[in-house]
Amino acid sequence: MTAINTGLPDPAPRKFPVTALATGFVILVCASLILVQGWVTWRAREVQLAETERATSNLARSIGQHAYDTIKGADTVLVGLVERLEVDGVTEPNLERLHSLLVKRVQELPQLHGLFVYDQDGRWIANSQATLNKNANNSDREYFIYHREHTNRGVHIGPPIKSKSTGEWIITVSRRFNNSDGSFAGVVLATINMSYFKTFYEQFDIGETGAIFVALTDGTILLRRPFEEKSLGRNIGQFPLFRDYLPNAKVGTQTFTSGQDGIVRINSYRQLDLYPLVVSAALSRDEVLKEWKSDAIVHAIGVGCLALGLALIGSRLIRQINLRVQAEAELLKARHSLENLNRTLEKLAMQDGLTGLANRRQFDIALKDEFSRAMRNASSLALIMIDVDCFKQYNDIYGHAAGDECLREISKVVAAGKHRPGDLSARYGGEELVILLPGTDVTGAMKVAENIRQAIYQLELKHTGNSAGVVTISAGIDAFVPVRENNHAIELIEAADKALYYAKSHGRNRVHAGNGEHKPV
Ligand code: GH3
Ligand code: MG
Ligand code: MG
Repeated sequence: MTAINTGLPDPAPRKFPVTALATGFVILVCASLILVQGWVTWRAREVQLAETERATSNLARSIGQHAYDTIKGADTVLVGLVERLEVDGVTEPNLERLHSLLVKRVQELPQLHGLFVYDQDGRWIANSQATLNKNANNSDREYFIYHREHTNRGVHIGPPIKSKSTGEWIITVSRRFNNSDGSFAGVVLATINMSYFKTFYEQFDIGETGAIFVALTDGTILLRRPFEEKSLGRNIGQFPLFRDYLPNAKVGTQTFTSGQDGIVRINSYRQLDLYPLVVSAALSRDEVLKEWKSDAIVHAIGVGCLALGLALIGSRLIRQINLRVQAEAELLKARHSLENLNRTLEKLAMQDGLTGLANRRQFDIALKDEFSRAMRNASSLALIMIDVDCFKQYNDIYGHAAGDECLREISKVVAAGKHRPGDLSARYGGEELVILLPGTDVTGAMKVAENIRQAIYQLELKHTGNSAGVVTISAGIDAFVPVRENNHAIELIEAADKALYYAKSHGRNRVHAGNGEHKPV
């Protein structure tokens, strides 16, 4: 629809356009959905990690306890042996009795691989095996050298070694025993099967890339799950656990990248109180979060699809709303145009096309209204009826177009001649014009009419067909206070017309009122 310029301002735009509000709402809903899902997913990850930390912490506690119990069992035997060797001495009968004791102890304690006694030169003097190889010598072993060179009576746990007698991986727990003068008399040694630990560690579900290890406090690995020969005895003292965390806390849980295999793990560790051991249980973070990750992906896809669906539906709705809003605005605009057009048409319908004065229709309405008002107010209503003199001749002499122009000039003077806002000048028909003057009596109307007559005369519009030589008008006037029931509007017209006839018949170019002739100036 083509917009019609009505001259009226367009309807005021709304402060928050409904489409902007709807768009904001859809964006808010989608963003909230994504944010809430993101938050829930993140929380699920945190919970999963916290649970894992608890699990690894419990595992480390359990492994620590097991390591403690295992070593303690072996060490208790060693303490007894030291006491016995130092009190009874290493005489042949004693050693024989000792042999059967060692055999018994190894049978009693499942963790024990063997028990051994070496003299001050490292020679085998008793053990838990069936036969004793008296020519064997262990003076080159780490634990033997340690005790020979250190006077302390404490327990010593050595790095893992392969047993000379059975070829199995073992851990050594040893103590020194002294002669009565305090000098070095030899070493008692308990060897613990690595498999004893392995069997225990294999009970735990630590996933495919979880790890468990027991190490000496200096970082020497005693054993590890997964079991790899190359990692046994390896020193990891420079790895984060020993370098950064253990110096600060003897028990803790930390997440860091393994120096062994580069896997990020959640590590729970603890250093034992009575033995120089550190245990650690670690679960791979990726493995622990695997299920969470796949859940998060499924949820993210679901929420993504939902948000996309919402956005699509939202955008369709917004388009619809937009169309409606536009249609509404256009309708409003059209209504304004129509209203304006109506007003213009109404005005045109009440106006005379040639002169721009009110037309006959408007005059009739105004006369009826003003007549009633004058009745109600008991006020005088005056009417001036104007007729151009010898206008037929004017047309004949100067042509119809000049006649029209002449009428326009006269109308301008007539329009300017009325003074009050309620006055109405109209074209009554042909070259007859009228002026309706509410609240005016004959005298007042007379002045108005006379002024107009003179003004038209002074226009000096040449009219050779008129005796005055210029265009003149005659006017008839009457005015009275109408009385209800007695008077009708037509009477005023008839009275003015009658006066006009009088003016015409008495020489033209004059104004006549109902009460007598008014001579021209
Ligand atoms: P008088 O009134 O002085 O008796 O003489 P008159 O020649 O004016 O007589 P009459 O009123 O009978 O003639 C009116 C003429 O006015 C007739 C017509 O040609 C002319 N006339 C009426 N309306 C128009 C109009 O709109 N334009 C033009 N040009 N002439 C008109
Ligand atoms: Mg006439
Ligand atoms: Mg005339």
